[in-house]
Amino acid sequence: MSKPHTLSEPASVNARPDLTESDYAAASAALRAGQFGHGAATDQFERSVAAHLGVDDVVAVSSGTAALQIALTVAGIHRGDEVIVPSMTYCASIHAILAGGARPRFIEVDPTTLCVTAETVVEALTTRTRAVMPVLYGGRAVDLAAIHQLLDARGISVVEDAAHAFGSSVGTRLVGTAGLLTCFSFGPIKNLTCIEGGAIVPRTPSEAAAARRLRALGIAASQAHRIATTTYTVDSAGLRATMSAVHAAVGCSQLERFARSAAHRRELWRTYRDQLHGLDGVKLIDVDVENSVPFNCVVRVHRGARDRLHTRMRDNGIGVGVHYPPNHLQPAFRRWHRPLPVTERVGREILSLPFHPAMTALDVEHVVCQLRGALDSEGSTR
Ligand SMILES: *Cc1c(COP(=O)(O)O)cnc(C)c1O
Repeated sequence: MSKPHTLSEPASVNARPDLTESDYAAASAALRAGQFGHGAATDQFERSVAAHLGVDDVVAVSSGTAALQIALTVAGIHRGDEVIVPSMTYCASIHAILAGGARPRFIEVDPTTLCVTAETVVEALTTRTRAVMPVLYGGRAVDLAAIHQLLDARGISVVEDAAHAFGSSVGTRLVGTAGLLTCFSFGPIKNLTCIEGGAIVPRTPSEAAAARRLRALGIAASQAHRIATTTYTVDSAGLRATMSAVHAAVGCSQLERFARSAAHRRELWRTYRDQLHGLDGVKLIDVDVENSVPFNCVVRVHRGARDRLHTRMRDNGIGVGVHYPPNHLQPAFRRWHRPLPVTERVGREILSLPFHPAMTALDVEHVVCQLRGALDSEGSTR
């Protein structure tokens, strides 16, 4: 079998981490240091992210999924509580809810942004709702300020799934600085990567302490304190979700270059927007590029055509994908299914185009040219 001829290698993958020699050097130095559990580099990464955001504290953890699970526990979400969440998200959001014994209440998104709105949230509130988990799809901030008072009055916390949205903002406020429990992912393909990792922005010092205890098997004492004493106390339940020094060192190195990487993502997204303009039958999901660091570039195409376009483009070496198959239709989450016609429709229309910082404007042109070709042959076979 011969490999399909690809004119554009970067466009052959949907996403890829943006790593440089300085990241490799940081990882290597951390490995050579020989102590790579939670360490000084982890504390440094927490301080650097907090300084970058302009918040008092940030708690680093092993993944975005762990960040969400811990944040829900910190917010006092218990067994049987209901958490409002869009069905249009990565399945990790749902697992994080279920891990703590809560139940997801799936809600619709705005089909032009794939994000929840104040209206879709309010419509779905019940007497059991204890938290709302907006997902900042594509890096777009979700502004629920209009209903914060209402949610507060009903004792409902907002736990943001900002896995896509590190660096994005609402107006002049960076995501993570609005006084909500915000969770980031620093996984392999996220805007900033630690290889694997995540973080929680706590609302108070006591939430920070609880998150630190929960990530470290329920042990409240610091690592340094434990090393210096003959025992330790397990104060509560907990996960094994600390961030290693190696991961933190990569994160620190990435953070130094973040402004450039973010600018490149914005530029790429704008190039896609311009190139896709006027392409018949293609609607671009809007990420509010002026205020966001775009995580992906997603279009909606005629629903009957999506799967064929996906196959055609992959056959031509273009790394298209689908983010995400709706969760309320997944077998694992069937118990919490409710009809969501908008999500079901867009779930059959969305196609994620290759999007990552190693791409250039030429790669984008190549992708759009291939999409145009695939749409043309679709038109002639329909
Ligand atoms: C990546 C992602 C997560 C989970 O983050 P991990 O670091 O992979 O655990 C959660 N929600 C969304 C929307 C994501 O894209």
